Amino acid sequence: MVTNTEQIFTFLNEHAESNNEDLYLEAVIEACQEWLSGERMPRLSPSVTKEEIRRGIQLAVLKGMKEQAQPNHQMTPDAIGMLIGHFANKLMQHKEQVTLLDPAAGTGNLLFTVMNAIGDKATATSVEIDELLVRLSAITAELLEQPVRFFVQDALRPLLVDPVDLVVCDLPVGYYPDDDNAISFEMMPAEGHAFAHHLFIEQSMNHLREGGYAIFLTPSSLFESDQSAELHRYLKKNAVIRAVLQLPESLFRSAAHEKSLFILQKPYAEMKAKPDVLLSKVPNMSDKLAMSRFLEQIEDWVSEEL
Ligand code: SAM
Repeated sequence: MVTNTEQIFTFLNEHAESNNEDLYLEAVIEACQEWLSGERMPRLSPSVTKEEIRRGIQLAVLKGMKEQAQPNHQMTPDAIGMLIGHFANKLMQHKEQVTLLDPAAGTGNLLFTVMNAIGDKATATSVEIDELLVRLSAITAELLEQPVRFFVQDALRPLLVDPVDLVVCDLPVGYYPDDDNAISFEMMPAEGHAFAHHLFIEQSMNHLREGGYAIFLTPSSLFESDQSAELHRYLKKNAVIRAVLQLPESLFRSAAHEKSLFILQKPYAEMKAKPDVLLSKVPNMSDKLAMSRFLEQIEDWVSEEL
């Protein structure tokens, strides 16, 4: 039997392949628009879920990204997105409404995975500098019926966003070239360009409400750079580190590409002494026993948290 996810991928792929004029991703957007307007639709069972729709679109976008070679816009892999979704859902479980921000939302794949994990109580703001990716994520949000506001801009410029409960972000990594703007950040170094990933952490903390959480996907070498002194100083003053979780090596091409999850909390007035930091290694995700032990450890950590 053909699954809903496969039906969606086939529908988008056939449209994109038969359209010689547009680039693949442009054609995917066009097919999504036709689907939304009811002009042409994939054949889906009535029980189709938001996750099936997200995955079907994601498969087509992955194919388009390979063809259009977008090295700076790598989509957050599903295994990592789902783990972030699990944390987000646990941390937000006692809230009736949740406001979310992804300041480097790309295709929106990570943001939608997290929204689907949290359920109907989430509303989100997405910021992304690449206009094509914003159009792609905006049409996906409509098909998923997820309430998201979109900003096409440099996320390190002033953001018109009220403080949120939760930030999720697969951080863009590298130097940020706009020194005139970076100067307004605490993590601007005395010499040379600032790191974009440092400034994204600072900008995210600026837009969190007190007690709110931020879940970042960062390079595992985050604390080993020549600007780590700026990062340490900033975090000590402005954030509480709640967890550092090293992701399994098998998810990455080489040691240099390895990433970790970094969970911060914005301090609040009644906060007691600084809590212990959860330092752990995420096991290989295909090892079911190790994974269930790890999720139990997370469960204990979350129940101490809330
Ligand atoms: N989570 C995303 C997804 O699932 O598609 C992938 C995020 S990708 C690792 C980082 C994104 O940050 C890229 O799409 C890039 O265009 C965007 N970006 C880089 N610098 C930016 C800036 N200054 N302001 C806004 N977006 C930026």
